[in-house]
Amino acid sequence: MTQPKHTITLIPGDGIGPEVTHATCSIIEAAGAHIAWEVCEAGAEVFKKGLSSGVPIETINSIVRNRVALKGPLETPIGFGEKSANVTLRKLFETYGNIRPIRQFSGVTTPYQDRKIDLVIVRENVEDLYAGIEYMQSPGVAQGLKIITRKGCEKIVRLAFEFARSEGRKRVTCATKANIMKLTEGLLKRTFEEIAPEYSDLEAEHVIIDNCAHQLVRRPEQFDVIVTTNMNGDIISDLGSALIGGLGFAPGANIGNEAAIFEAVHGSAPKYAGKNIINPTAVLMSGVMMLRHIGEFAVADKIEHAVCITFEEGKHPLRDMVGNAGSITTSAFTDAVIANLGKTSQTWTPKPFKPIQLPQISTRPDFVHAQESKLMGIDLFVESPLGPKELGDSLSALAQGSPLHLKLISNRGVMVYPSVGILPDTIDVSRCRFILNQESTSLNDGQIFDIIKAVATKHRWMHIEKLYAFDGKLGYTKAQGED
Ligand code: NAP
Repeated sequence: MTQPKHTITLIPGDGIGPEVTHATCSIIEAAGAHIAWEVCEAGAEVFKKGLSSGVPIETINSIVRNRVALKGPLETPIGFGEKSANVTLRKLFETYGNIRPIRQFSGVTTPYQDRKIDLVIVRENVEDLYAGIEYMQSPGVAQGLKIITRKGCEKIVRLAFEFARSEGRKRVTCATKANIMKLTEGLLKRTFEEIAPEYSDLEAEHVIIDNCAHQLVRRPEQFDVIVTTNMNGDIISDLGSALIGGLGFAPGANIGNEAAIFEAVHGSAPKYAGKNIINPTAVLMSGVMMLRHIGEFAVADKIEHAVCITFEEGKHPLRDMVGNAGSITTSAFTDAVIANLGKTSQTWTPKPFKPIQLPQISTRPDFVHAQESKLMGIDLFVESPLGPKELGDSLSALAQGSPLHLKLISNRGVMVYPSVGILPDTIDVSRCRFILNQESTSLNDGQIFDIIKAVATKHRWMHIEKLYAFDGKLGYTKAQGED
């Protein structure tokens, strides 16, 4: 008997998960991959047992040992602790890159048929608004922090270029909203532009994310690899899956340096669970990505050919997301793919696949150093029902004798004090910017505490941001209207 070459953690998942992972494992085994599956639990059943992370230690240990997992979708039940087991896994294993191929199968009828869509979205997977740091500033004002780091940008940008090389692709497009969010989204753009020259064999370009969405609908075939932030990537990858037939066709890989977890983009679709009608292609193609990740290139190509031929033969699962056009069950589709193993599709040519060289960058928390950090002032967020003029005059008076003066007040990002003539619709949380007086050369924490204490005698302050210049560059944005 042939010994398994690879041991892989298998999480069947919830809802339709067991059906799609069973189909995938059957096809992978029939194609001749030597794999021992270590079946592990996560998701709904685990929540029901009272474990609020949704992921038992046995499952974590299995992934730590094997470093590769194939995972069915996991439900996020409401009322059992409300943590997402998916997010737990993503964060535990720091799978910072989410690779989502959007590729069209010949034989799958869509409005974009015959457009040869074959692009890959490389989505940052752990930072951005998904850090989930949110606050109610006042009863009517919510705030969420968008965290983007140079380290995170460098990892995802290098992963995108390395991924492009691993598939012999030609171009990497960085999609951001850097025109508006200059420091956060801008950090990804700047990092991309700095690193791109190291990959001179690949074309590199930047596109604004909204135009990217427009272009994806208009002319998706122009894209090759798109690298983007977490939120942007979430949205455009679902858009992308709709171009090729829907979520039933959209595979994915969560890549980190310690582990890689392969899973479809779709969820557990509970209403179809156990009905033997859904499309297993998304998880199957995630399995194909997994095979390439572990170096089983020939088996991966064999399966991809067989999937292509099955669709070319007009065989679709009953709910394949393309206008409900399918005619066979999930298990009959699985059998059809197995029957086609070993045949060569005329509509698909394998790429020159090779292993991804995962970027190895420093894990130091202080990833970036500045030669000079200069404290320029503070933004003090104040909750007040007063109008800008009244509040501004009061704060200016309270700052008398301090090395700081009130430079401006902005409300929802727009300068409202000193007045520029037009008053926008204001809310009860204001950003009050205190900047060093011309004659003052430095600012210390004691002086900051003093001004906060002075403000607190008359107003309710909410929180403070220190305003730094790093190596002469402002580390904060200006308010709309500020000079
Ligand atoms: P969903 O499970 O992806 O299902 C949404 C719809 O997509 C389904 O109703 C069905 O559309 C279609 N669909 C999804 N997978 C399909 C497949 N393989 N074949 C054919 N059609 C498919 O999204 P949801 O209903 O929002 O979420 C359900 C649960 O899954 C939630 O608990 C959510 O938290 C979880 N979830 C998990 C993951 C993950 O594990 N990575 C990802 C997303 C969501 P029609 O109704 O039009 O037929």
